[in-house]
Amino acid sequence: MIAKPSPYSEEQPTQQHKRNLELPDKPEEACGVFGLYAPEEEVAKLAYFGLYALQHRGQESAGIATFDKDTIYCHKDMGLVSQVFKETSLNELPGYLAVGHTRYSTTGSSHKVNAQPAVINTRLGHLALAHNGNLVNTIDLRQELERHGCDFITTTDSEMIAVAIAQQVDEGKDWLDAAIGAFKKCSGAYSLVIGTPQGMMGVRDPNGVRPLVIGTLNENPMRYVLASETCGLDIIGAEYLRDVEPGEMVWITEEGLSSVHWAEKPARKLCIFEMIYFARPDSIMHDETLYTYRVRLGHQLARESYVEADLVMGVPDSGVPAAIGYSQVSGIAYGEGLIKNRYVGRTFIQPTQHMRESGIKMKLNPLKDVLQGKRIIIVDDSIVRGTTSRKIVKALRDAGAKEVHMKISSPPVTHPCFYGIDTDSQEQLIAATKSTEEIAKQIGVDTLNYLSWEGMLKATGEDPQSFCSACFTGDYPIAIPEKIKRSKLILETV
Ligand code: SF4
Repeated sequence: MIAKPSPYSEEQPTQQHKRNLELPDKPEEACGVFGLYAPEEEVAKLAYFGLYALQHRGQESAGIATFDKDTIYCHKDMGLVSQVFKETSLNELPGYLAVGHTRYSTTGSSHKVNAQPAVINTRLGHLALAHNGNLVNTIDLRQELERHGCDFITTTDSEMIAVAIAQQVDEGKDWLDAAIGAFKKCSGAYSLVIGTPQGMMGVRDPNGVRPLVIGTLNENPMRYVLASETCGLDIIGAEYLRDVEPGEMVWITEEGLSSVHWAEKPARKLCIFEMIYFARPDSIMHDETLYTYRVRLGHQLARESYVEADLVMGVPDSGVPAAIGYSQVSGIAYGEGLIKNRYVGRTFIQPTQHMRESGIKMKLNPLKDVLQGKRIIIVDDSIVRGTTSRKIVKALRDAGAKEVHMKISSPPVTHPCFYGIDTDSQEQLIAATKSTEEIAKQIGVDTLNYLSWEGMLKATGEDPQSFCSACFTGDYPIAIPEKIKRSKLILETV
């Protein structure tokens, strides 16, 4: 018998959740995952804080599932972590193991029913799965699972992984063999935290596209934590131990942590955009904070494209470290020229027409006396569609800037992502259809320079082959099936 939907999955889709005021002008994050095995602790509360630190990875929905003996408890809903959970809802999540998720929808629309963790009942009890990434063989996998009689409640590839594990459990395998059997059928990017009544798994796909780290609780180093980024460990006082390796599964139980390297040909293809923009600057990758890497991107940018100016500033917040780096190498003073409104989350109220026309001031307000009469270098981490850049440049000019030079601390984004980051289809990526000079004209800057692809990789200090940088090159490390390619690679398939 195939896994039955759990009572937790029987919610019906709610009203379409509205996206932000406008289409995003940055690639949108995929998801944050978190897991904790610690019978001595209030696991739901620690998971809450872990998700709170990972909020930047997804703001549409959040959820936590806990295990207490053979019973699973789950609370998930649309909204920010702080909106979804109250003290009372956390008190209703007892247990020794928690799996948490914060979501931005990359597969499946933004409905409550698609919120994670995905909870499925199996022969061995429930499993709760939190997924960051995107499968590229969803159509084939779903058809295969349907041939085995599996049902689906959601439209997410994450549920598909959970169902694939449940199907193998129900055929008689134990948790670990079932999970490995399921992973071998999955192609794409996936970092997973999976809770079961017996223990918790942490998994990365064979290319390790999305990050996943292991930590230990300070009070008890035998108790393990899993998180998308180290900032999810820091907030609960956990100590970073190591990354889950590409193609590795760790199994965390009462006895501690064991590991299986299940992939036949693991490779290192960490998403370079995690380093440039997605992950928090205080998270550690390759033994240093991403702040430090991003400052080095600014050093490289200054070496590659110096221009005379009075002031270097960053687009808050993601452009700031590279702007500081640019200033350090160029010798041009660094300062703030745009102040971000930090006290609001997403708003779902439509602005008035007048506000729309006035541009970006809900988010960024220029400092007129700082900008007046100055030659400004403004540094940002990327340009995707160019719409926000144009508004920022206009705001700087309206505030009195004499010249505006834009420096981008990554190369032009020319290809869409299929591995869990929501970029537009290729034709909407401004750099896929326009030259740098044309883009400069469109966004209204005096000059525009991107960091070179070589410079971006050189600044990592790592083997350039150990990253995915397909959105800059079109060189996808995991093959994209034709029918999926056609959905986004418009310019290359017509
Ligand atoms: S295509 Fe770009 S955004 Fe997607 S995983 Fe690769 S580097 Fe990251």
